[in-house]
Amino acid sequence: MADYRCLNCDTEFDDCDADYIDEDRGECWGRIAYQRVRACPCCRNTEIEELKECPHCEKLILESEEMCGECEKIFAVAKDPEKCYKVAEAMEEATVEINNYLAYMFSSSEINEILLSTLLHPGCRSKIAEYSREYIESDFESFAEAYSDTEGGKR
Ligand SMILES: [Zn+2]
Ligand SMILES: [Zn+2]
Repeated sequence: MADYRCLNCDTEFDDCDADYIDEDRGECWGRIAYQRVRACPCCRNTEIEELKECPHCEKLILESEEMCGECEKIFAVAKDPEKCYKVAEAMEEATVEINNYLAYMFSSSEINEILLSTLLHPGCRSKIAEYSREYIESDFESFAEAYSDTEGGKR
């Protein structure tokens, strides 16, 4: 696992491979002051950023980033409940207890349809994005797998 990425040439390197250059920091007590700074071993650029693992998939990302681009795309699905529904179709079905009479009256696809239309009701839609995000986070691995199964979440 690399420690740093150069923001100029994208080279990733370990701390032990880093180059160091003395940057001129102006005069101090009549002498020129230098500061030793870490630089890219490839292009000697000093604009480098520390790397860390993406909290969801362990891919290397910049210290300032929240997650990797791939995981960001998956979490973006939370904004669209219909898309969430579509992705979840590739996942294992959940079972719930339901009133015996209603279970007799409706097929499982009818029940899904009725519940989805309730979810898409304007009064519900406004607070759904946050819940959808929590849902995706609750079993990120399965959702990410289902997402890639549905051609990257396309409909
Ligand atoms: Zn570089
Ligand atoms: Zn990731």
